[in-house]
Amino acid sequence: MILLNIPPIFGTEIKYVNSAILDIKFNNNNKFIQLCENWFESKFNFKKVFLTTSCTSSLEMAALLINVQSGDEIIMSSYTFVSTANAFVLRGAVIVFVDIRPDTLNINENLIEQAITKKTKAIVAVHYAGVSCDMDLIMSVAIKYNLYVIEDAAQGMMSKYKNVYLGGIGHIGCFSFHKTKNYTSGGEGGAIVINDDLLIKRSYIIYEEGTNRSIVNSNQINNYMWYGVGSHYFMSNLQAAYLWAQLKASKYIYNYRMNLWNNYFSELFYLSENKKLELPNIPKYCKHNAHIFYLKMKNRNKCYSLVNWLMKYKIIVSFHYVPLHTSPVAKRFSRFVNSDVYTTVESERLIRIPIYYNLTIDDQNIIIKYLKKFFIK
Ligand SMILES: *Cc1c(COP(=O)(O)O)cnc(C)c1O
Repeated sequence: MILLNIPPIFGTEIKYVNSAILDIKFNNNNKFIQLCENWFESKFNFKKVFLTTSCTSSLEMAALLINVQSGDEIIMSSYTFVSTANAFVLRGAVIVFVDIRPDTLNINENLIEQAITKKTKAIVAVHYAGVSCDMDLIMSVAIKYNLYVIEDAAQGMMSKYKNVYLGGIGHIGCFSFHKTKNYTSGGEGGAIVINDDLLIKRSYIIYEEGTNRSIVNSNQINNYMWYGVGSHYFMSNLQAAYLWAQLKASKYIYNYRMNLWNNYFSELFYLSENKKLELPNIPKYCKHNAHIFYLKMKNRNKCYSLVNWLMKYKIIVSFHYVPLHTSPVAKRFSRFVNSDVYTTVESERLIRIPIYYNLTIDDQNIIIKYLKKFFIK
């Protein structure tokens, strides 16, 4: 059986997790958290990073940070994970969906301006498959209308937009270290990147359950107290130890995934030339991270026959998001601006195939062999 995904295990995780267990005895509870946060800040040139329990909590923290109020509108694409929308719905916001670009499945940057109203508060840029949105255009619209930009970079760690790492372009960036992503903190985890000085100032209180604990710790005032809204967003040191092993190995993991991605692309390219399928498009402004390899078939029925064909050879492939605006609950929380030209159509013909650090080249060759057979049979 070749699974769609296996969580990344590099091999060095146990060493750091053991060390974190020993640290518990000495009440040294944030060594690996510090190491990871510093790594992100220095390697990616981010102003402030907090490790969190998930990308979902990073997005929820982002909604608190920008002070979303009931009735505020948040613009995003509908082809995304539910948390991208829920984080803002939890604060009473209305989600305003905009169509995607067919080539990247990211928000169509040219349709954003028409969706802006007096109530618009922020634009969320989801970097699908670790391929970046066109951030220059998004940032210039945001500046023109005085809006926040939040990057949902859950899938985008190590990817770049014009030489800037994703997560570091908008006011806030959110990462996931869930087990399905390129790097994990042992199954669950995330990070929030804060690039705006005013937001950094407010962030400590929100991150530490609405207390002034971080200020108290550094100033030695007697006791911490309730200071505002916030929640318990921080990751445990044990998880950070697992993540630290992966960050130290991030280049190897990145290169390995990239090699798999490039193999797929070059082996399947002739099929795209023969119009049997479409392969992912990487815009010139983007350096991606090989997070997902997808094929676009002619239609949904073709997808089903591919899924069934590969199942016969014990190869698991899968669809991805059901667009949020097509859900029965969507009209309670959202509206779609203009028409859905690409979101539904493109999502219905996309199939993800296995790509992960622990996928062997032999297994990849088996996948490629049966894919080719499907298209020439
Ligand atoms: C995975 C993912 C999330 C959620 O991440 P969690 O860490 O599981 O909460 C949010 N948005 C996108 C685009 C994702 O791919």
